Amino acid sequence: MRYTKVQYEKAIEHLQLRLQQLEGDALPCSICTDGGHNAYECGFNPLLAVHLCCITGKTAETLHDLVHKDGWTDEVQNRVHHFLYWLAGEQMVFGVQLGPRKMVLPHPVHGDHPYPTETPKC
Ligand SMILES: [Zn+2]
Repeated sequence: MRYTKVQYEKAIEHLQLRLQQLEGDALPCSICTDGGHNAYECGFNPLLAVHLCCITGKTAETLHDLVHKDGWTDEVQNRVHHFLYWLAGEQMVFGVQLGPRKMVLPHPVHGDHPYPTETPKC
């Protein structure tokens, strides 16, 4: 998937706004100005998306290797189930949702979505 110049410019702008809120605090998000979350967990933060993609990819690769090595054992099935649970955003720690679904998804700005919204084909 190729990205447009506008999308790159938005990503750079969002990273620059992220610099204004390096530590978590009670202030609204420095990127999107919404309350209830900080810039480190904002869906507009490209670093968070990259981080979650890396974790997801590495975990999926590990689970794939386990399925080939050990077969579909109860242990492997249990680990795959926990991974899917995490992906679906159902896993919570101290009331905080974990996994990619914890991201606050970007809202369209002036009718344009700053990031691609297509669902990847599997
Ligand atoms: Zn935000």
